[in-house]
Amino acid sequence: MKKNELIEIKIETLGNAGEGIGKIDGYPLFVKDALPGDRVQVKLTKVKKTYAYARLERMLEESPYRTEPRCPLHRRCGGCQIQALSYEKQLEYKENKVRQDLIRIGGFSEPPVQPVLGMENPYHYRNKAQFPFGRDREGRIVTGFYAGRTHTIVAGTDCAIGVAENRKILELILEFMNEKGIEPYDETTGKGLLRHALIRKAFATGELMVCLVINGKKFPHVEELGDRLFEIPGMTSFSLNINQKNTNVILGETVIPVRGQAYITDQIGGIRYQISPLSFYQVNPAQTEKLYRTALCYAGLTGGETVWELYCGIGTISLFLAQKAGKVCGVEIVPQAVEDARHNAVLNGFENVEFYQGKAEEILPEKYQKEGIRADVLVVDPPRKGCDSDCLETMLRMEPKRIVYVSCDPATLARDLKILCQDGRYELKKVQPVDMFPHTAGIENVALLERKRDL
Ligand code: SAH
Repeated sequence: MKKNELIEIKIETLGNAGEGIGKIDGYPLFVKDALPGDRVQVKLTKVKKTYAYARLERMLEESPYRTEPRCPLHRRCGGCQIQALSYEKQLEYKENKVRQDLIRIGGFSEPPVQPVLGMENPYHYRNKAQFPFGRDREGRIVTGFYAGRTHTIVAGTDCAIGVAENRKILELILEFMNEKGIEPYDETTGKGLLRHALIRKAFATGELMVCLVINGKKFPHVEELGDRLFEIPGMTSFSLNINQKNTNVILGETVIPVRGQAYITDQIGGIRYQISPLSFYQVNPAQTEKLYRTALCYAGLTGGETVWELYCGIGTISLFLAQKAGKVCGVEIVPQAVEDARHNAVLNGFENVEFYQGKAEEILPEKYQKEGIRADVLVVDPPRKGCDSDCLETMLRMEPKRIVYVSCDPATLARDLKILCQDGRYELKKVQPVDMFPHTAGIENVALLERKRDL
C-alpha cells in the first residue's frame, strides 16, 4: 500500500480518539469522521508498518448507526469526535472498549464490567469550557474551539455540549475587544493579550465564573468589562489569570480577582462545593453524582472506617465519603484545590476530614513509613496517566480492605489494576463505566478491588 492510494473499506470499530477503523487483511486503517458500519472510499495519507491513516474521500454506504448531529461544526471542531454516531451506539462502543482494555492490557479474562451509565439528555451537559481567542484569515477577532490536532480556531460560540450562557459571555468579550482595541494572543509571535476565556457554571445554583487568561499583568478597562459581565444573570466571579509563557498549558499560576467572589458554589448530592478557577472540578454534574454515588457504594462504609483519598481535588469525593466514614484523609497536588477542599469541609460542617497538599506518590509512602498510617479503604482518582508506581506499591503495603479506583482513562486503569492484582491478594469485583463525556471518545470508570480473605 502506498500513500495517496484509494481504497474501499468497511469501518468496523472506533479508535481511542473516536476515529473509524477498518481493516484490510488484518492491517488497520484509521479514518477520521468515519463510523462503524460505514462503507467508504478513503485515500491513504500516512502508511506505517503496522497501520495507516487515511482520509475519508467518498461515502459509499452510510452506517445505520448514523444520526443527524446537532452541531454544524462537529467535523471541524476537535471537541466532539463521535456526535454523528447514535447515542446508544456510543454507549455500546464505550462499554466494549472498557472490557477490551481490561482484557488486553489488564490481563483479566472475564472483567466484571457493569452496564454503562449513560445520560438521558446528552446535550449541554458541560459546566466548563476554555475558549481560545485569535484572528481569522480576514483578520477578525474570533473565539471558538481548536480544530482536531491543531490550534486553528473553529469560530463558534454556540456549542451543543456547552451551556447557553457561553454565547452571551463570549460575544460580549469579542465586542469589548473590538471596541477597546484589545489584541488576541498570537501563538506564533507570542504577542497579543487575551489567550483564553475560562467559563464555568454551577448547575445547581446557576452561578457563573469567567476567568480571562492573559499574556500580561493587566487588562485595559477591566472594571468596565466587569460591569458589563455582571449584567448577565448568575455572574458571580470574574478574574484574570496570568500566563506569559510560550506553552500549550492554558492556565498560569496566578489568579487576580476582579469582581465578585473568587469562586463559585455548586452542589452535588446535597453537599456544597466552592470552586476556584485553578481547581479541577468534574465537567458533567448530572453524571458526577452517579459516579460519586457508585464510588461511595463500592467503598462499602459502615461508619467507623478510616479512608484515604488520593488525587482528591477540591475534596468532592472525600466529603461524599465523610458522610459515612469515621475519618477521611485527602491528598492533592494543587494548593488552591486543597484550600477549596478545606473550605468545603467547613462549609458542610464536616470535622472528620483532613487534607494534605503534595504529590500522592510522595505523601502516601512518607506517611506510611514515618507515621505508620493505615486505611480500611483507599480511594484514588488520578489524572489520565494513572497512578505512579511508588503510590501503587504503598497502597498494596497498606493492605486496605477495599480499593476504589476512579479513572478517566480505561488503558491506564487496566494497567494499574493489573499491578494491584498481580500477587493475588486483591480481586477485581466490579467495574462501572459512567459516560461523563457524551459525543467524545472518553469514558470514566469506577473499579472495586477487594482484599481476599487472609489464607
Ligand atoms: N477527585 C476529584 C479530582 C480528580 S482529577 C474530583 O472528582 O473532582 C485528579 C486530581 O489529581 C486533580 O485535582 C489534580 O490536580 C490532582 N493531581 C494530579 N497529579 C497529582 C499527584 N501526583 N498527586 C496528587 N494529586 C495530583
